[in-house]
Amino acid sequence: EVLVGNLIGEGHVNYVLMYNMLTGIRTAVSRCQAKIRRPLTDEDYTAANKYSFDIVGNELTPSAKYDFKFKDYAPWVFRVLREDHFNLDPADYLLSLTAKYILSELGSPGKSGSFFYFSRDYRFIIKTIHHSEHKYLLSILKDYHAHVRDNPHTLISRFYGLHRVKLPRGRKIHFVIMNNLFPPHRDIHETYDLKGSTVGREYPEEKARENPKAVLKDLNWINRGRTLELGPMKRALFEEQLRRDTKFLQSMNVMDYSLLIGIHNMQRGNRDNLRRNTLRVFQPDFSSGDRPQPVRRKMSLMKAQQAEAKFLRRAMRQSDPRELTDREADPTAALADRQHLVFYQDEGGMRATDEANGDLDTIYYLGVIDILTPYNSFKKVEHLWKGMSADRHKISPVPPLEYGNRFLSFLYASIRGGGGTEKFKPGADKE
Ligand code: ATP
Ligand code: CA
Ligand code: CA
Repeated sequence: EVLVGNLIGEGHVNYVLMYNMLTGIRTAVSRCQAKIRRPLTDEDYTAANKYSFDIVGNELTPSAKYDFKFKDYAPWVFRVLREDHFNLDPADYLLSLTAKYILSELGSPGKSGSFFYFSRDYRFIIKTIHHSEHKYLLSILKDYHAHVRDNPHTLISRFYGLHRVKLPRGRKIHFVIMNNLFPPHRDIHETYDLKGSTVGREYPEEKARENPKAVLKDLNWINRGRTLELGPMKRALFEEQLRRDTKFLQSMNVMDYSLLIGIHNMQRGNRDNLRRNTLRVFQPDFSSGDRPQPVRRKMSLMKAQQAEAKFLRRAMRQSDPRELTDREADPTAALADRQHLVFYQDEGGMRATDEANGDLDTIYYLGVIDILTPYNSFKKVEHLWKGMSADRHKISPVPPLEYGNRFLSFLYASIRGGGGTEKFKPGADKE
């Protein structure tokens, strides 16, 4: 529950996994990017490319420890998502993730068992996901694509890639790459994860006082009397987008998602230095071996490999060390892809406004996260079980339609002038 990044260096338990993930991404993404763009077909949504890495002969990595398999799902679809809908520069994407093998790990933030890793410039998050979430994302990929195409300002997580690493002993690890909602250059003074449910949705206040990085929940939000300060203009836009996104999630039959809100107080600025631990950069010496290993040696693949190597060289050429340092020193460059987005255009977030739409001294960093939980039988069981002891409508695993309606009404009530969230408190009258 604590937003602290632990840098993964050699010797870290997850170093090999990180190394494999980044090597796989680098090879797979550059291979796809090196090809000429073509229109998507239906098959692209179910396509997957397999890679088999065999790193024998690489002086950087010791023997069989780094043999692994990598699977790249729907590469063409994610390429289109990144380029056309999420405004990412292909070389930039690859560089941020893989120019240096550096990630930091978010100490087990959820109950689900997922791991979270930040790219070294803090722009991207790699989240390991359960196999069922993976299957679910593939099953809705076409609808997801249609939704982000029709809703360029969507608040829903931006997925940039879906991959799988298979370790030699057979363990399969699925992961997605998505946008980090929080900025690299601003302290987040308070964080909330809001579902519109109140049962069990409280971070202990005594602990919260000691830990400014705690992720607070619905009851903390209610008890602290928080509201989203939005003037009529932003309020209308935000409500409309939230309504559309929720409607989409309801139609996809999901639940358990939340609105993540990071609050930056401009008066307080960055003096508390609550951002990630300044990354002590782990930098393997890639000077000689910094090339993806040839994946297969078949002649038919030679051309693809050449194109890929060329793309990678071009990308890497932009990455001389000085330039990377400059990029890290100037985080606004990393926010360029958000500049045209209504809810992410003020320093990467949304500035609070007063009733005359004038700027206030708060920036919100927010978005809808954790959208890959379909209302499956497990949740149905949990629903019945929890429903015996608590108010059935206030617990989190309710059916998707109800979940979405409750989510929306809680958030509408949370906006200044929206009626307040007191009525959502346990024991409060429902109407
Ligand atoms: P659970 O299912 O128990 O809620 P989970 O493992 O599915 O957990 P998430 O709900 O996706 O995890 O995220 C957990 C926490 O990680 C969030 O509350 C937030 O603090 C952080 N987080 C997740 N996604 C993002 C994101 N896109 N940007 C910034 N922070 C994020
Ligand atoms: Ca969650
Ligand atoms: Ca989850």
